[in-house]
Amino acid sequence: MSRLWAVVALLCALTGSVWAQALPYERPVDRAPQEKSIGGGYKTPDVQKPLPRKGWLEITDVVLLAAAMGVSVWIVVKRRNRRWLMALSATSVAYFGFYREGCVCPIGSIQNVTVALTDGHYHIPMVVTATFFLPLLVAVFYGRAFCGGVCALGSLQELVLIRPVQVPKKLDRALGWLKYVYLLAAIGFAVLPLAQRDFVICRFDPFVSLFRRSGFAHMLALGAAFLVLGMFVGRPYCRYLCPYGGLLAWFSRLSSRGVSITPNKELDCGLCTDACPYGAIEKMRAVRANCLYCARCYEACPREGPLVQLRGQA
Ligand code: SF4
Ligand code: SF4
Repeated sequence: MSRLWAVVALLCALTGSVWAQALPYERPVDRAPQEKSIGGGYKTPDVQKPLPRKGWLEITDVVLLAAAMGVSVWIVVKRRNRRWLMALSATSVAYFGFYREGCVCPIGSIQNVTVALTDGHYHIPMVVTATFFLPLLVAVFYGRAFCGGVCALGSLQELVLIRPVQVPKKLDRALGWLKYVYLLAAIGFAVLPLAQRDFVICRFDPFVSLFRRSGFAHMLALGAAFLVLGMFVGRPYCRYLCPYGGLLAWFSRLSSRGVSITPNKELDCGLCTDACPYGAIEKMRAVRANCLYCARCYEACPREGPLVQLRGQA
């Protein structure tokens, strides 16, 4: 029942933002002053990144996002295979991260959707609306599939995590509240009057400068610092700062399917709990809200990990 309400709430918000869809707009560049008409060797500054994208390519991005989440669910829920998930993560980092330069992403779209719902003069493209809602809709049914190998930010952090240490539970819980504070602050800055409005999630995105191979030195340094920290502390941005992760955690609480520790096979050895770098296994069960779909628990399981698969082939 609560899942139905969540879907209804998402549809209501979706309807609101659909009214704020962008009208087709063509910039009258031929009438604007050009390099030749300005003269004096004037060069148009090369600052517009990312470049506007053709409509069909934007739709392709949404289709790819939906397909990637379907693949993520299939790999993690059905195949229970971490190696394939790593391949999906690397593909997502390459495509959504370095090729698409981290844009459009659901995390930043929180701000666009917020403004679209509160400011009648603000319009957003349909692809931004779809990018915001799709991962939440999937979370209602299957948990955080977007975080498992689809989100470029999360996948990048997953790929660099080589020697995870467990964060003490109390500290982990306390730091986990930061993302909700950040979410409220981001919404607060987004609904300010136009002159003061600020999209802080995008401005302080620690990885977008890396994906674009450009940007302020301090943001590149921040991204590098997150990655170095993330070699030992599992996905620090996801767990403690990502505002969209906070929304996904809420919606994934309603999901009935997702990562499951296999009750009919388990030995109660606790190896899966030790293997989870995100503290997402409690009392030998995966906690949907915190589970980042990494599939490390399957890999560590003596009853279904790679060793069992090898034994089966022998
Ligand atoms: S928590 Fe945020 S940054 Fe991390 S994978 Fe999920 S959406 Fe991406
Ligand atoms: S329970 Fe932990 S180890 Fe297993 S998929 Fe979820 S986050 Fe990864």
